[in-house]
Amino acid sequence: MLINDGIPTKEDLAKVMPSPERLAAGPVSIAECFQNIPCNPCVKACPRNAITMPNSINDTPQVDHENCNGCGVCVGKCPGLAIFVVDMTYSEEFALVKIPFEYVPVPEVGQMACGLNRSGEEMGWFEVEKVISGGKKNKTYTISLKVPKDLAMEVRNIKVGGYK
Ligand code: SF4
Ligand code: SF4
Repeated sequence: MLINDGIPTKEDLAKVMPSPERLAAGPVSIAECFQNIPCNPCVKACPRNAITMPNSINDTPQVDHENCNGCGVCVGKCPGLAIFVVDMTYSEEFALVKIPFEYVPVPEVGQMACGLNRSGEEMGWFEVEKVISGGKKNKTYTISLKVPKDLAMEVRNIKVGGYK
């Protein structure tokens, strides 16, 4: 349970998942942020104003999945590393999963990276398709992994140094 171990339940996740129709339409952001904390860089980061907090900065973020175009800008701006972008249309076999990452070494494009689930369990090796730096003042990278579609909603982290 989230409050005890930081791992969201299926019920938690169901509340923030885009609809199957939206997932089938292209890349989309998923904010796996479930606690009422005073934080809103995600709201300020989105160029489409697709992330809102209805009442106050203590709200959990609400993503308008229809307005979101999956650009990924918000992924590297969340200090909680809680936002991901999933593109189920990447190819017939693979989804592209954009994951925030702020450790060193940083995986490189073309390497295979060991993907972890929300519990830290190893899910397999996945090709690094893209690496975007957060810039000089933001050490958070956005790493795009090619993940088989049946694991696209499971892989949410990369094992530090788990590259080959
Ligand atoms: S992926 Fe882009 S459009 Fe979607 S919520 Fe994030 S910043 Fe906004
Ligand atoms: S920036 Fe991240 S941690 Fe902060 S409210 Fe947004 S999703 Fe949650």
